[in-house]
Amino acid sequence: MAYSLPQEVREIVEGLHREGYGAYPVGGCVRDLVIGRAPKDWDVTTDATPEEVQKIFPESVYENEFGTVGVKTGSDDATLTIVEVTTFRKEGRYSDKRHPDEVTFAKTIDDDLSRRDFTVNALALNVAEEQEVIDPYGGRRDLKNKVIRAVGNPAERFKEDALRLVRAPRLVTELGIAEGWHIEDKTYAAIREHASLLREIAVERVRDELVRLMLGQDAAQGLRLLEELGLLQYIMPEVREGIGIDQAKHHTFTVWEHGIRSLQYAAERGFSLTVRMSALLHDVGKPRTKAGEGEAATFYNHEIVGARMTRELLTRLAFPKQFVQDVAHLVRYHLFYYNVGEVTEAGVRRFVRRAGVEYIDDLLRLREADRIGSGVPKAFPYKLRHLLYMIEKVRRDPLSVKALAVDGEAVMKTVGLVPGPRVGWILNALMEEVLDAPEKNTEELLTKRMKALAKLSDEELQEKGEKGKRQMEEFERGVEAEIKGKYRVG
Ligand code: ATP
Ligand code: MG
Repeated sequence: MAYSLPQEVREIVEGLHREGYGAYPVGGCVRDLVIGRAPKDWDVTTDATPEEVQKIFPESVYENEFGTVGVKTGSDDATLTIVEVTTFRKEGRYSDKRHPDEVTFAKTIDDDLSRRDFTVNALALNVAEEQEVIDPYGGRRDLKNKVIRAVGNPAERFKEDALRLVRAPRLVTELGIAEGWHIEDKTYAAIREHASLLREIAVERVRDELVRLMLGQDAAQGLRLLEELGLLQYIMPEVREGIGIDQAKHHTFTVWEHGIRSLQYAAERGFSLTVRMSALLHDVGKPRTKAGEGEAATFYNHEIVGARMTRELLTRLAFPKQFVQDVAHLVRYHLFYYNVGEVTEAGVRRFVRRAGVEYIDDLLRLREADRIGSGVPKAFPYKLRHLLYMIEKVRRDPLSVKALAVDGEAVMKTVGLVPGPRVGWILNALMEEVLDAPEKNTEELLTKRMKALAKLSDEELQEKGEKGKRQMEEFERGVEAEIKGKYRVG
């Protein structure tokens, strides 16, 4: 069987051969070639030492202390820009459950394959021998059967490097749980038994696997699998709080089930990681805020508690600040009430201003996922479509003080003020007037208005500037009614 190897990889293998070394494409890229998928990156393993590899490929960097050299190929293809060339390795001891204590180089390709995590990843391609696949652990048979199986004794392998505990569910999720990919029984049992070893793994490594799992098409099943394997308690214990927590009547699912189903919809639609994560987490605050049971149950402030929990959880997992901010914001604002005819255009402007123009599209995607995740059949019922239409109508209106036709300088000059809180109050009051009537956003009109406003007392000014806040509260007040099932958006 001839696999199509990119020219860049072929050249690296041949370059090593020319100098008398063995060299094989290995691991995930061979796995992907065998099942006919496009590899995400390319790894080559060789008996040349890292120093020897660097000598042959001057355009390379010694990436870490584990014998890996990144060879720069100059390719524009992101999967090929750097090909990782790793010297044959033997399994070392991992006393910190993270990295081998020392790297011992192996003599043969078979030794190298023996230290790899799963049979389907313990494959190498013999380019010299007409691309024969080197497969000492039955990886191709397991690929055919869609099985992820540890190489050798599963418990030993997880004890060596506990990251493998999450790599297994990540792999089946990426490969496709719905298509029948699964973890072999003994491997599965060993993961369950040794799940707590995950605590010893650097959070960044766990996070990277979680991200890949959540970006998989079967992200929702992947999350269920993390729970079944007993791993979720060490990654996102907060999400588990929703297990068995019933919601008020119109929600037929528990909080946990609802989060998973919302994620499922977000994944099926190919939404971003930000939306997927907020779909999973949007109701994470419900268990802690639940009061009462059955139809009378309430979850006051669950979006506020949920946003705080989200922030803590994602920060603990070392997600980038901006990502944490975005997801927490979506969780915070995921509740909104909208009914055709009840909310004015100005109300929609205030809502968009408060939720943030830049978040509106994701917020609507989240709402879609939320609806479908609660078992409602149609993603975009009339009310939601109408809101969308209203948002389109107002989204280019001046929605922030920055978009006003006048600024603080102008206020100070026109009404003779020095920098201080009154300048801000006047701007806020102008903003409120423009939110009610965007056509008033001209320098001439606003200059006239600021002169009138300058005559008001501090209290009166502040009161005017807070009009929007009060109205937003009304916009959000409908939410409790919505939770009780009376006026769901849509
Ligand atoms: P993909 O590239 O699709 O993410 P992959 O299986 O190639 O999947 P990489 O992280 O690129 O994953 O690792 C390359 C190869 O290195 C794997 O296929 C596997 O053979 C080996 N490997 C990676 N991580 C481990 C580990 N923790 N323990 C043992 N072997 C590992
Ligand atoms: Mg790979």
